Amino acid sequence: MHLHIFIGGAKMKQCNFIFKNKTKSVLKLSALSLSLFLGLAGCGAQNSSSNSNSSSSKTNDKIIQAVGAENEYADVIKQIGGDYVSVTAIMSDVGTDPHSYESNTQDSEAVSKATLIVENGLGYDDFMDKLESSSSNSNRTVIDVAKSLNYGDDTKNPHLWYKPDTMPKVAKLIAENLESQLPDKKDYFESNLSKFNDSLKAFNDDLKQIQDSYAKTGIAVTEPVSDYLLEAANLDIKTPWDYQASVMNNTDPSPQNVKIQEDLLKNKQVKVFLYNQQAVDDSITALLQLAKDNNIPIVGVYETMPPNHTYQTWMQAEAESIIRALKDGISTEKIS
Ligand SMILES: [Zn+2]
Repeated sequence: MHLHIFIGGAKMKQCNFIFKNKTKSVLKLSALSLSLFLGLAGCGAQNSSSNSNSSSSKTNDKIIQAVGAENEYADVIKQIGGDYVSVTAIMSDVGTDPHSYESNTQDSEAVSKATLIVENGLGYDDFMDKLESSSSNSNRTVIDVAKSLNYGDDTKNPHLWYKPDTMPKVAKLIAENLESQLPDKKDYFESNLSKFNDSLKAFNDDLKQIQDSYAKTGIAVTEPVSDYLLEAANLDIKTPWDYQASVMNNTDPSPQNVKIQEDLLKNKQVKVFLYNQQAVDDSITALLQLAKDNNIPIVGVYETMPPNHTYQTWMQAEAESIIRALKDGISTEKIS
C-alpha cells in the first residue's frame, strides 16, 4: 500500500525537484525563496504522511527513482509514473540560460540513484554523460530523446520538446520503461499515458487555430527556442537561421544579419516578435524597444518549464500568447 496525500499538483511536483539558487537579482531571489518555501511546505506535509506509514518498509522499495535532465521531461515522468516515481529535475530554473548549465553534487547524487533518466541530447545536456559515467548502474535506462526519436547529430535546433509530436513519443517510452520496472502497475501507467495524451488536445487545437487563420504570417525571433512550434503552426520565421544560432551560442551575429533583423521590425515585415526570456542582453533589449516603437506585439518564450505549469499548460500558454499577438496585437512577455 502506498499512502498518498494530495496537496495540489504544482506543490507536490516541486517537492521532488532540486532548487537552485543561481540567480543574481534580489527580485529573482525573493521569488525563488517564496517558491522554495511553498515547495518545502508541500514536502513537509508529504513527509509526515510517509512517516506515519513507516511501518511498511516495502512501500519505499516500490518507488522508482528517476531524473529528467530538463524539468519538462521530469514533469512528464511524474505525470506517467504518479505515485510510483520520485523524480528529480536537474535544470529547473527559468532565471538561467540552460546552454551554460554546470552540474553540481546534488545532481550527481540524483543520477547515481536513478533507474530511469530522460535527457534531451544533441549537446544540450552533455553534463549528463559525465554524471552517468561517473556512477555506472546496470539497472539504469537512459532515454536520450534525440537518439530515441532518430534525430541525427547534425540536427541544428536542440529544443525538441517544442515539436508537438515529441512529448507524446517520449511519454510512451517512459511508460514502457516504468512498466518494465513495475509490471504489475502496467494498467496504472497506461491510464496515465492516455490522460497525458488527451490533455494535449487544447494545445493542438491552438496550433490548428493558428494554421487555419494565420498560415505563412511573418514573425521574427531571437533564438530557435520555439521554432519547432512556430513551424508546426505554419508561421513564417523571417529571422535568418545564422542570426538565431549566433544568439543561441552566445556569439555575435554578423552585421548583415543584424540589419536584416532590425529591418524586419522597422519596416513592420513581421506580425510578432518572439524572444527568449532566459537570454536577454543589451542587443535583445534594444530589439524589444524597436518592436515596441513599431507597435509589433512581443511574446516571451521559455526554454525551461516555468513554475506552476505542466508541460501541456506551458505549451498551451505559449500558443495562446501567439494567438493574442496575431489576433489583437497584445504582447505577453511573461507566462505566469
Ligand atoms: Zn536554447
